[in-house]
This record gives sequence, structure tokens and C-alpha cells, in this order.
Amino acid sequence: MGSNKEDKSAAEPEKVFRPLVLMPQSVLDGISEIERATSQQTQWFKAWHERVICNHDLRAFNVHGVEDIPLGAWFKSDAAKAFSNNPVFLTLGDKLEEIVIQVQAFLRGTNDGSPHSVDEYTHFMNTLMDLNTYVQQLQSDAWRGLTRMDPLTGVRNRHDMMVELDVERERARRSAMPCSVAMVDLDYFKALNDTHGHMVGDQVLRRVSAMFGEQLRPYDMVYRYGGEEFLLCLPHTDVKTAVAVLNRLRIKISDQPLPFAKNGTDIFVTASFGVAEMDTAEHVVKSIERADMALYDVKQSGRNAVGTWMSGGVA
Ligand code: GH3
Ligand code: MG
Ligand code: MG
Repeated sequence: MGSNKEDKSAAEPEKVFRPLVLMPQSVLDGISEIERATSQQTQWFKAWHERVICNHDLRAFNVHGVEDIPLGAWFKSDAAKAFSNNPVFLTLGDKLEEIVIQVQAFLRGTNDGSPHSVDEYTHFMNTLMDLNTYVQQLQSDAWRGLTRMDPLTGVRNRHDMMVELDVERERARRSAMPCSVAMVDLDYFKALNDTHGHMVGDQVLRRVSAMFGEQLRPYDMVYRYGGEEFLLCLPHTDVKTAVAVLNRLRIKISDQPLPFAKNGTDIFVTASFGVAEMDTAEHVVKSIERADMALYDVKQSGRNAVGTWMSGGVA
């Protein structure tokens, strides 16, 4: 197997529609924006309906593209990016395009003086109701995502960790592909807190978490396991490849100047890693224990390294 980055185009596991690290605040902002757009969309529709029912001029409701209707403007805005990895988002985009075509057809019919058919009206109403369904789905997915997110770092919390790891174990078993789990523990983090304060420690935790997201593949999983400890799950990755990937990650972390110190100097932090290939015949807890044993060994022998657990023991 080649490097982890190179593997991106190779045998990718099932597509996972979620960015690795998304900050909780950006999800909350996204939810507020979609609520605002939905309420404007309702107002828009109320005004449109009033004109149709009261036979008023519909020309103000001519739309040229999705951005001319409130939900469409939201869809095209940066605020919508927090949702763009959800497949429902793409379906919503298709529905908005349909609405544009239907509004244009409605207006053309009105201008021609031709009566609107019940079918035409019903179809339009159904499309509008579909919009609501998709928006609600996006919102509920976002809320559910938040409950699984560590509020400090944006990586996953332990909420569904065991269930999700077991899904990966089962997938690895079925496909006969390897899957590795790694434990990561930041080195001398207590001393970092003692020297720079907890707030700076928090910033370091956030930055390191973001680096996991930048360095790993979209379908790798990052969990905050405890205070300054993380669990990584690397599907389709044997232990040898995992060591190479984690060493690259480890060096990126140790080389990264962190400009958080109050006196303006850079902070540097290192991390220790223990990795084990999942034994698909055993409970995932066993694989985690092995990765933990390898991590323990790295801590004993100096830190800032990647240790492995092979079938013969810690290497
Ligand atoms: P080692 O290299 O052996 O891992 O040493 P360490 O100091 O990193 O390990 P130790 O377990 O002694 O200390 C972990 C520290 O991590 C202590 C705790 O205050 C800090 N920590 C845990 N969670 C958080 C957090 O959310 N924010 C901050 N700032 N610090 C945290
Ligand atoms: Mg620790
Ligand atoms: Mg530590």
C-alpha cells in the first residue's frame, strides 16, 4: 500500500459525507442561517400566494435563478457550506432549480392569460413542501451531528464511538481489508498548561485537532478520547501504512509553531502515538487496548514517536 494521501484515489471505502473537523460554532451559525432563510421563504411564498389568489400582478415574482428566492440565496451563500457535505443538500439544490422552472412557467401562463391547471398547481405545492422536508432533514442532521461533536475541538466525542468502530471492524471483516486504530496522547501537556495557562492549552488542543483533519483522509475518524488523548480509526490501512501516516502527522505537529503564548513566542508541542491493526475477529476494545499498550511503551521510551502493537507484542 502506498502513502495515505496516495490512497485517496485508490480503493476508497463507501463515501462518507462529512468533513473530519467542523467547529460546533460554524454548525450553530449554519442552523441559525437556515432558520432565517426558511422564515423568509415562508414570507415569500405567502406574498406569492396572495397575488395568485387575489389576481394581482405576479411580475415581482419573476425569478431568473435560485438566488432570486430566499432559500436559494441561502443555498448559494457561504452560510450553507456547513451543510454541503450532506447528500440531502444536493437534493435540495435540485428542488430549488425545479421551483425556479415552475415559477417561471406559472408567470408565463399568467401573462398569456391561460388558466393554471390543478396539476400544475399541485406539482408546485408539492415541490415547495419537499423543500421544507429537505430543510428539516438538514437541520435535524446538523443537530444530531452536534451531539456527536466534542465542543472544544470539533472532532467526534465518544458518544457513538464504540458503535462506529464496530461498524468499521465489521466492514473490514467483510471486505478483508485492514483497518488500524491509533491512540494519540499529547506530550507534557500538564506542563504546557502550567506554563501558558489552560486557555492556551485549549487553543493547542483545537489546533492539533484541526491538523488531524488536514492530514488524514475524509473517511478517517478522529475521536477525543479524553483530555489530551485522541483515538484515530484508519480504514483500509494496514499497520505499516498507518505507522508511515502517523509519523508524517507526528512530524507536522512537532514542527508546527503555535503562536498562542502570551509573550508572543511560539509554542511547540509533540505527540506520542500507539497503533494496532484491528483484529476483526475480536471486540474493538481489544484493538484499542493494544494501541494503548503501544502508546504506553512510547511514553516509557521517550515520547514523540509512533509505536506499534504487532501480534508478537509491542514493537
Ligand atoms: P505525558 O507526556 O506523560 O502524557 O504527560 P502529560 O502532562 O501530557 O500527561 P498528564 O496526564 O499528566 O496530564 C494531562 C494534562 O492534560 C492535565 C490536564 O490538565 C490537561 N488537560 C486535559 N484536558 C484538557 C483540556 O480540555 N484543556 C486543557 N487546557 N488541558 C487539558
Ligand atoms: Mg494523557
Ligand atoms: Mg499527555
